[in-house]
Amino acid sequence: MPKPIVAVGALGGTIAMSAPGMEAVKPELDAAALVASVPVLEDVAEIRSHSISNVPSPAIVPSNVLAALDFAREAVDSGADGVVLTHGTDTLEESAYFLDLLWDREEPLVLTGAMRSPNVPGADGPANLLASVVTASAPEARGMGVLVALDDTVHLARLVTKSHATAVSAFQSPGWGPVGRIVERKLRLMLRPARVFDPLPVPDVRDIEIPIVQSPFGDDGQWVTAIATSNPRALVIEASGAGHLSIPAADAVEELMGEGLIVVMTTRTGSGSTTEHTYGYPGSEEDLIVRGVIPGGFLNARRLRILLHVLLSSGMTPNQIRNEVQFRGE
Ligand code: ASP
Repeated sequence: MPKPIVAVGALGGTIAMSAPGMEAVKPELDAAALVASVPVLEDVAEIRSHSISNVPSPAIVPSNVLAALDFAREAVDSGADGVVLTHGTDTLEESAYFLDLLWDREEPLVLTGAMRSPNVPGADGPANLLASVVTASAPEARGMGVLVALDDTVHLARLVTKSHATAVSAFQSPGWGPVGRIVERKLRLMLRPARVFDPLPVPDVRDIEIPIVQSPFGDDGQWVTAIATSNPRALVIEASGAGHLSIPAADAVEELMGEGLIVVMTTRTGSGSTTEHTYGYPGSEEDLIVRGVIPGGFLNARRLRILLHVLLSSGMTPNQIRNEVQFRGE
């Protein structure tokens, strides 16, 4: 039986960082070095490696993600059965969701990284790379959109989040859980998404310009005026509970929407969905929706920001954007 072909594209992050002795680590290993450090990969698949960039997460911008998309599409078009991207873990969830919105192939596209660099005891990069290559090779992972594999667990890009600053088990899908696990170098897939969305048009390369603001206790809404002066393309609010703001914040946001700004809200709790008709007081989710705020459903603020960026770039009207956000957030 011929081995599956898996393309590995490296973007950077801790998985590729090293340093002499106890010094703080920096990007170092390219894709070929990463793959060479895990010889067992060759037992699982024929690997084609390529370095896309070698930067830490905070340096990743939309052009890196779009370059990764081009790499993945070209790899599949030239025969790869699946694609793995290595990425810094800090913003991995954003790149994974960005790609999930755009991925227009059946072949698995799997993102991975490492919480511990290769030069420290217990480095998790090699195991994560192996888990990702196993996942990308698996026929049952086809048609699931973008996946994220770390710590021998496999998550949907639309649900996963980095939920711990340092733990090897940092990647979780709060409120849902993983869809599969790696056992003895095999993917054990337990769940498939009930809905897979149509790919969206690839946006032009440009900055995102959509701030995220978390509404705090005793919110006086002063931040709304500050945000307005930066002339954003849209605004994402992490509201309390299932989508609630103080009256001053709700009034200030309403004024901003009156000037044409698209405002989407999500819960600041870290998991669960916004509601629509549970509370009816001023500043409640029902009141905010009547005033024009779009409820983001289960999508967290970081994902909503990426989604809005892609939708705004596609030239949709505000009404189409509202429908699309609600449809994808449900
Ligand atoms: N802590 C990070 C990582 O896990 C650094 C980064 O995201 O680039 O890769």
